[in-house]
Amino acid sequence: MAEPQRIVIVGGGLAGAGAAAALRERGYRGEVLLFGADAHRPYELPALSKGLLIGDAEEPDWVRGQNFYTEHDITLRLGTRVTRVELGGRLVLDASGGEHPYDRLLLATGSKPRSLPVRGADLAGIHTLRTLDDALALRAAFAKAERVVIIGSGWIGSEAAAAARKHGAEVTVVGMESTPLESVLGAEVGAVFRDLHAEQGVHWRLGTSVADFVGDDGAVTGVRLTDGSMLEADVVLIAVGAAPETGLAQAAGLELAEDGGVCVDALLRTASPDVYAAGDIASQFHPKYERRLRVEHWANAKNQGEHAAGNMLGDHESYRRAPYFFSDQYDLGCEYRGLADPGTDRLVVCGSLAEREFVACWMRENRVTAAMNVNVWEHGDALKHLVDTGAPVTDEQVRRGEFSAGSAG
Ligand SMILES: Cc1cc2nc3c(=O)[nH]c(=O)nc-3n(C[C@H](O)[C@H](O)[C@H](O)COP(=O)(O)OP(=O)(O)OC[C@H]3O[C@@H](n4cnc5c(N)ncnc54)[C@H](O)[C@@H]3O)c2cc1C
Repeated sequence: MAEPQRIVIVGGGLAGAGAAAALRERGYRGEVLLFGADAHRPYELPALSKGLLIGDAEEPDWVRGQNFYTEHDITLRLGTRVTRVELGGRLVLDASGGEHPYDRLLLATGSKPRSLPVRGADLAGIHTLRTLDDALALRAAFAKAERVVIIGSGWIGSEAAAAARKHGAEVTVVGMESTPLESVLGAEVGAVFRDLHAEQGVHWRLGTSVADFVGDDGAVTGVRLTDGSMLEADVVLIAVGAAPETGLAQAAGLELAEDGGVCVDALLRTASPDVYAAGDIASQFHPKYERRLRVEHWANAKNQGEHAAGNMLGDHESYRRAPYFFSDQYDLGCEYRGLADPGTDRLVVCGSLAEREFVACWMRENRVTAAMNVNVWEHGDALKHLVDTGAPVTDEQVRRGEFSAGSAG
């Protein structure tokens, strides 16, 4: 394949900016044009619900340093939204009418927070969290807040609850599940997170939802739940998940999958020649799982962006990595590798859930479908090997912490 002369990337997050950097780091010498609707230099999102929100960090982790883009001849168009992609003409159009031809195009437009379609959702004091500006506004609000209500008991809701407690606010988290994080971790491991937050003074309102928000003079003062009860609030965070930003791709005529993402094959290619997608928006046909997968995690954005860069230059390699994510809440740190169904996979634990120092493995027959280490850091490579290869291991070996057993066979 002839080397493309001009590569255009839409989306200045980790997937998009990481892809631009990878192109140069591989020695690509053609033009690289990167559009980001956000006015800030490309940054990573994890710190926005952790160190930056708490106030321990003043800046997010930047994808690359201040001078990297100019030094590597990457044209950054920040604060510039791409409004149209013309697949036939191999052209993208930006919000001010500029037309930009491409030989290869990478779509990496990420996600946007879901809203709640209830009365009062537009009152002042109600926040969502996706961008650096969102995080700075929420941090300022937490610093002054007396009563914070967080809607959503997933990762971002849980991390934000920890940050709000560090600011000294009274915090209530409302979740539809009966245990936080239950859909990912199951009830037993989810309870570890529930108890951790309860010990830190967080109030849980689980198995319920929001009926509406009430306010005074345009600002939120309370959250009415579907069970009829009312929670007082001067700051509310809606953290009920994110939806992939696929408007551009859909309007261009690219196919969307049932999971809402843009359909790509194992190589991260769409059905349109020379157009790729990576990160939160990509619904990839994953060779390991033999089905479509759309993953909203930091590592997926980083690795898929870099992988797509290679394939745009002709690598022709399938993306095979299993999902991986991490979280930090108070003094609990964890990593999760793989993809389990906690409803049907068998949970086997090494260590102590009560002491919050353990490795949880979800097993299907004698294989580990996913593994999560909590405040235990020495088994990462062995757990990755078990998840990646499906090497056989017994429940007893897992309980004894013999995670390298799978490598022997
Ligand atoms: C607060 C927060 C904390 C998180 N913490 C963790 C964590 O601890 N661990 C973990 O594994 N994952 C975490 N994640 C998830 C992870 O960060 C994301 O999955 C990842 O950042 C997705 O990267 P992306 O590049 O696909 O999308 P994004 O980072 O969303 O970047 C997409 C970019 O595209 C731009 N864009 C969109 N449309 C256009 C357009 N038309 N024109 C130009 N630009 C456009 C947007 O402005 C945005 O900057 C967190 C997410 C959030 C929001």
